[in-house]
Amino acid sequence: MTEQIENWLSAFDLDMSLSPHVAAVIERLPGQVRDDLMNDPAFRMCDYEPGAGVVMHVPVSLPTPGAASRSVVLKRTLRHRPTSFVRWLIAHELAHAHLRHGGRWKGEDPEFAADALAAEWGFPKPY
Ligand SMILES: [Zn+2]
Repeated sequence: MTEQIENWLSAFDLDMSLSPHVAAVIERLPGQVRDDLMNDPAFRMCDYEPGAGVVMHVPVSLPTPGAASRSVVLKRTLRHRPTSFVRWLIAHELAHAHLRHGGRWKGEDPEFAADALAAEWGFPKPY
């Protein structure tokens, strides 16, 4: 699985400081969630270095019929944060992608849902 994940991740060309964290989170996702993301050809992940004058280009693929395309964008400044924070944030963003920015059920707050899923996957929000 690790090799499959690494092959899949290599297409996104993530920064060296972040890709091992992303791989570690993907590896711990429940199989059905990981498949949902890895089998979606429209799913994208990218990172960028925030700073003055930086224009961020988010790669967006054409949506497949019936499904909005999903992307996760990570700031490279994350690398300065503790591992528990980095992995929680990645899990939180992947949860949004999995839930298509909605809740787990109608009316649930999407932020609450993303934190709840991240915690369920082993990445609770650090305080
Ligand atoms: Zn969020």
